[in-house]
Amino acid sequence: QSVKLIVGNWKMNGLSAALAQAEAIRDAVSAAGQGPRVVLCPPATLIDRISAALADSGVAVGGQDCHEKPVGAFTGSVSAEMLADAGATVVILGHSERRAAFGETDADVAAKVEAAIAAGLEPIVCVGETLEQREAGEAIAVVSAQVEGSLPMGLSERDFAVAYEPVWAIGTGLTPTLEQIAEVHAAIRAAMIKRLGDSARTAPILYGGSVKPENARDILATPEVGGALVGGASLKAEDFMPIVKAAA
Ligand code: 13P
Repeated sequence: QSVKLIVGNWKMNGLSAALAQAEAIRDAVSAAGQGPRVVLCPPATLIDRISAALADSGVAVGGQDCHEKPVGAFTGSVSAEMLADAGATVVILGHSERRAAFGETDADVAAKVEAAIAAGLEPIVCVGETLEQREAGEAIAVVSAQVEGSLPMGLSERDFAVAYEPVWAIGTGLTPTLEQIAEVHAAIRAAMIKRLGDSARTAPILYGGSVKPENARDILATPEVGGALVGGASLKAEDFMPIVKAAA
């Protein structure tokens, strides 16, 4: 049983005052002792400050997206190199909110993953079906195709993670059954190995979508669940820490 990975995705939440929440999580993680790897992904504006506050603690910092190019005339964008420079060691890529609201394709995500690798960041690549796709019996096919299209060959031998986030489970309080999670995670593992070979046998596959203190233990004990990608419940230490402890 390898060490789990628990990632908090703050999405577009957090002003300066959120530094105190990051510090509370840092202190609670260090007080809890041996446990999972923990990463907080605040908005880009807070990465510099939070990574300074969390330096040499048990909590790493990540970005929520990056541009595929390292530098240039891309007004409003942040590159992987800039995230790394600000103190991030991880980056979430291909989140369904980016795929849906910003039209990111698998090819776009794969290009961003290459950029993350070049900048020395560990990518967390998100995949997941919509409710319509699940009801049509297409969940496995959709997710397998996203893995195939979003993981560039350059990931071989690199540290990375895949996150299964069913779109219909994000922010809704709904979750798949443990059997459904196990089934999709097994399909993701098979697609990862098909794409990248044996080196993809150990990369963690996280589950995300309405992970809460009440369901974390069962989800994290499900076969092929290597950790959790937590949205709403990662904003406050009192919600996030029971999830971290459930992964210990
Ligand atoms: P919730 O945990 O708020 O459902 O969000 C999940 C998510 O999208 C994490 O990336």
